[in-house]
Amino acid sequence: MSRVVVLGGAESGVGAAVLAKVKGFDVFLSDNGKIKEEYASELRKWEIPFEEGGHTESLILNADEVVKSPGIPLTAPMIRKLEAQGTHIVSEIEFAGRYDTAKKICITGSNGKTTTTSLIYYLLQQAGLNVGLGGNIGKSYAYQVATEHYDYYVLEISSFQLDNVYDFRPDIAIITNITPDHLDRYDHNMENYVKAKFRITRNLRPEDCFIFDSDDAITIAHLDKIILQTKMLPFTQEREVSQGAFLRDDKMVIRYDQDESEIYLEELALGGKHNIYNSMAAALAAKAMDIENEVIRNSLATFAPIEHRLEPVLSIKDVLYINDSKATNIDSAWYALECQKKPVVWIVGGTDKGNDYSILNDLVKEKVKAIVCLGIDNAKIHAAFEGIVGKDKMVDTHSAEEAVKAASRFAQSGDVVLLSPCCASFDLFKNYEDRGEKFKQAVRNL
Ligand code: ADP
Repeated sequence: MSRVVVLGGAESGVGAAVLAKVKGFDVFLSDNGKIKEEYASELRKWEIPFEEGGHTESLILNADEVVKSPGIPLTAPMIRKLEAQGTHIVSEIEFAGRYDTAKKICITGSNGKTTTTSLIYYLLQQAGLNVGLGGNIGKSYAYQVATEHYDYYVLEISSFQLDNVYDFRPDIAIITNITPDHLDRYDHNMENYVKAKFRITRNLRPEDCFIFDSDDAITIAHLDKIILQTKMLPFTQEREVSQGAFLRDDKMVIRYDQDESEIYLEELALGGKHNIYNSMAAALAAKAMDIENEVIRNSLATFAPIEHRLEPVLSIKDVLYINDSKATNIDSAWYALECQKKPVVWIVGGTDKGNDYSILNDLVKEKVKAIVCLGIDNAKIHAAFEGIVGKDKMVDTHSAEEAVKAASRFAQSGDVVLLSPCCASFDLFKNYEDRGEKFKQAVRNL
């Protein structure tokens, strides 16, 4: 019996181990750190041997194949050793793809992955298809391949999950956009990061589709360098295209084969320029799946906003509080500010990932009346914006509760209080969900 060793015991690793077990391999899972109880009990339930708190070489180096979890960097010593002895290392996505005959729509990109993935999943459900949702969202893809039967999958795939993908083939691949993020994992080399994302396209066939943002300079520059023999479906807000999605007056136009359909922008359930892009990508995927125009239109109009992404929380004294805790980089905060029509009290800050705040200067000048910093070290934010909003319109806070109270003091009737932090959350919170939850609770307590 051939031996599969899984490195990493969280969502993706445990899913891969369960699938390997179901497929009859001799499976072993090893995690350098602590395995959460929910995952340890899952492994026991499936009778999969595992270790935590370190790697035992003799139990790992004898693997016929290794499945590496996306959290483990390619430079980890155990990975180096396995590579040196020539052991084949694959990602959970690659491993699971071998046992799955469903049609797959796979979404990667720097921003908008979860929104676009959820939109497409909703669309396919509305069309009555037997569809699963996975990857970076919810249950891992491998676990579902082991335990469910779907005809279609919509998979959100991060660039780390693409690292060890070789033969995996989506039927429809989407790159939402590419902006610098997570560069630390790619030797601070943008080219490596772009190539990692483009791995999603490597096995596309002529009858498959590639959906991409043709307003995105980085995507376009890379497309110029490679040859993709597949159906190309760009989406753009800047020009008309013969195949793909574009804007005409106050409508979004979808052109696919001989068909042209239109949707009024004001009908779209999700507001903001960035969500027009996401809706275009979703509509194109649906067209490529032969879903009727009417279903596409209705679905894009009735989709409910997802938590922590420009999520309206409450209106208090005619001030609307919005939770955009998932905005952990400059680009996503740019779009959050861009779509605000009312004066904004902006809550920003956290663990800075090397942000260049000057990109936001014009929007801050135009829209922001006061800034509440929410982070341990706010020096960069002060330096960037004091000259624009004024020193007296900036304040430092160290908890969601303090931040919401400070924001409510700045806000007047008709304003918006927007949490769109531009930064990771780890200095004061467990993760972005925790930051969003605490923000919402503080708003409810006002
Ligand atoms: P991801 O899964 O790629 O992190 P999400 O859909 O969770 O993306 O959105 C993350 C953040 O980026 C949110 O603040 C959201 O408002 C913003 N955002 C969503 N779509 C886009 C887009 N197409 N371009 C830029 N920012 C976006």
